[in-house]
Amino acid sequence: MWFNIHQLAPHLYRIQEPGHVSFFLIKIDERAILIDSGLGIARRDFEKVLSDLSVKRFRVLSTHLHCDHAGFNFLAEKVYVSRTEFEKYQAISDEKQILNYHHLLKNYKSWPEEQIKETADFSDKLEFIEENILTVFDQKFEVIKSPGHTSGHLCFISHQHQAIFLGDLVYNGMLYLNLPDSHFEDYIKSLETIVHLAEKNQYSLLPCHNSIPLDIQYVRGAYEACLKIQKKMPTPIHSLEANSIFKACDEYHIEDIKIQISRTR
Ligand SMILES: [Zn+2]
Repeated sequence: MWFNIHQLAPHLYRIQEPGHVSFFLIKIDERAILIDSGLGIARRDFEKVLSDLSVKRFRVLSTHLHCDHAGFNFLAEKVYVSRTEFEKYQAISDEKQILNYHHLLKNYKSWPEEQIKETADFSDKLEFIEENILTVFDQKFEVIKSPGHTSGHLCFISHQHQAIFLGDLVYNGMLYLNLPDSHFEDYIKSLETIVHLAEKNQYSLLPCHNSIPLDIQYVRGAYEACLKIQKKMPTPIHSLEANSIFKACDEYHIEDIKIQISRTR
């Protein structure tokens, strides 16, 4: 079984692809809402996860369209995403990103023994998110625009489940602001918004990588680290050249926050 399943709350599950990414499943009778959908590999195992949870159909709320978040979107009834994010995805043919991702990481991470294919087309499932409140089945989500990691990145708040789904806005690990559409100034504003909402609501903070849930102090630390970088207080520990996924960047380590930021920001 490729996936690890952790129940976080009565109807809320974390689906983990070890060493890669996590996404989330909210179960409602035989339906489910996924927040992101992982790499899209080990499809049989994924279908077993759904059948073990008695889920027959699902919809996806998409924080953003990187290849480790959108892999099983094509199996959904509907995919809710920001228009900005999808237009960028199409413009840069990002469905091929997983081939580069696999090529870069094939010796450093575990993979199932199968041929990695580009992300399957889900354009017939799209529903663009236009409002601040999104209703999916009987559940309401507050939609928080959070550009920075990508241009159309969204976070979602479920007051019902007392959870904030952070996508790749912030997590305990290297933060990447060196993608083609990353934007450092936008990122700082997004983090400020989330720090404020997290401190106000005291909900579980659910990022898609590493430690889950994330501590609010870590999110505040990331925000404060970015303010220091903005003021050019720390110097980068090194610079990296561009590769098939990332732009040329500077890497900063500020206490326990690690972040790579495009040199042309
Ligand atoms: Zn991402």
